[in-house]
Amino acid sequence: MLPLPKPGLDARTVFTTCTATARPETLRARLQDLKDHVAKAAVEYETAAAGQALHTLGHLQHQPDGKPPPTAGGINEQLTKTYKSRMVPKRSSGRDFYDQLLSEAPDGRCALCGQGLADTLDHQLPKTAYPLLAVTPANLVPTCRDCNFYKGEQAPATAEEQTLHPYFDGHVHDYVWLTARIAGPPEPAISFHATPPPDMPPVWAARVLRHFTTLKLARLYNPQAGLELRSLSRSLHRLPPKEIPEHLRERAADWAEENPNCWQAALYRGLAESTWYAEEGYKEPWH
Ligand SMILES: [Zn+2]
Repeated sequence: MLPLPKPGLDARTVFTTCTATARPETLRARLQDLKDHVAKAAVEYETAAAGQALHTLGHLQHQPDGKPPPTAGGINEQLTKTYKSRMVPKRSSGRDFYDQLLSEAPDGRCALCGQGLADTLDHQLPKTAYPLLAVTPANLVPTCRDCNFYKGEQAPATAEEQTLHPYFDGHVHDYVWLTARIAGPPEPAISFHATPPPDMPPVWAARVLRHFTTLKLARLYNPQAGLELRSLSRSLHRLPPKEIPEHLRERAADWAEENPNCWQAALYRGLAESTWYAEEGYKEPWH
């Protein structure tokens, strides 16, 4: 997860702008009547997110209409459409906000996996379950399409079920929790794991595991590591063997400065801890 500053956009302004072009006029009036509800829900959302408590917002689910399923043409469906029809399309009234949120992706990368291209916005709390938060800026995170798909429509029922939130959960990187295990000999292999340290608070630890599993990060990082290992092997063959362990430790430290839980930092930590890799493993054909 790549931490991001919370968007400076005001939820009421975004909602009012997005709904300003809704037609017919009766629909526009119905939507704009909800601006106070939307603004209030946004404040509650931010307070809950800052306290790792998005699961406590159950009272906002399926509001203002009530229980699911949403009535076709009902106000909940129209609120959801405010995102799809009035914020996402080019030249729609809210598109500038969409572009602004997307442009905050660090180096254009997905804030959830840190690897994919950020080309969409993910609703941290799904818009179908939380129509009032459909265009709330703090609920919209720049992500890749895979993460958006894997996260799906899940709404957390407990604190532990919350995936990490790039706007609110930067402190998760106070801990090192992503690890790479080097297997070998005889067959060299690498695998990534979420391994929260013992001193990590239990809710953080559960959330890290949830995030890692939901977004299938092991599956994403493994092939990246294979490519890196082949390139690294060529570099290490040019180094005096006694310098290899220190070189690996330096690479691990350099990546950790970037982000202690990026796959590269985990990979080099794992390699630096493997005596076998530094002595023999780097000569193996890594796939
Ligand atoms: Zn992603």
